[in-house]
Amino acid sequence: MQLRLLKTKLLTRSKWMKNIEANIKCIKNDIKLACERSNRSYSEITVLAVTKTMPLSDMNQAFEHGLNQFAENKVQELLRKETSFSQDITWHLIGHLQTNKVKSIVGKVTLIHSVDSYRLARAIDVQAKISDIYQDILIQVNVAKEDTKFGLDIDEVEGVIRDIALLKNVKIRGLMTIAPYVVCPEENRSIFRKLHQILVDINQKNIDNVRMDTLSMGMTHDYIVAVEEGATMLRIGTGIFGERIY
Ligand SMILES: *Cc1c(COP(=O)(O)O)cnc(C)c1O
Repeated sequence: MQLRLLKTKLLTRSKWMKNIEANIKCIKNDIKLACERSNRSYSEITVLAVTKTMPLSDMNQAFEHGLNQFAENKVQELLRKETSFSQDITWHLIGHLQTNKVKSIVGKVTLIHSVDSYRLARAIDVQAKISDIYQDILIQVNVAKEDTKFGLDIDEVEGVIRDIALLKNVKIRGLMTIAPYVVCPEENRSIFRKLHQILVDINQKNIDNVRMDTLSMGMTHDYIVAVEEGATMLRIGTGIFGERIY
């Protein structure tokens, strides 16, 4: 038993070696195959390089091998890297955002993935107005109802979206979810399918100012299933850079 566990661990590790070029190639190839299986176009899918804890040298490598959209889960780390990384890339905030940090992040990121309340959206709207910009956002949904995760419950999503749609300087582009950490990625298929269905259902209601086209779902160990279920943005860290050392 002990030995089998150890072997499995080694096998999963070796798949995510710290070879950024090879990892990106492998991920792109997986995505292409998943697109073929599910009759989707490869061009619909964007890989976000999740750079948390990773040094600028690794970020440079990812950039050199074709990735130009980076994501961080912490505001402080994002702002620090945003000023020190000189390449022409766009940033995404994928982690929880506190209202008191809204001011420093609005306008610095192309997309905020983690809006989970009207109150937060309103704070973003106020700041966007001051900066005279439109801020794109996603609504985070806790599809799996995990206590440890942020995000709206499924039955709150439509109501909150209707309220946020009235704000002038935020634009709802779609939905985001963080699926549970599971042994087998197939276990998350129903979660991804559900998020996709919510997006389709809400689009069909023709709410003013709401036309969603973005589904941010799928991470290192379940991005293939996510693509098959309609993801348009994959948030991949370990799969590109190797294991994180905190
Ligand atoms: C860290 C993180 C990811 C990437 O996780 P990996 O398993 O390393 O690919 C994706 N989304 C969010 C919100 C994260 O915080």
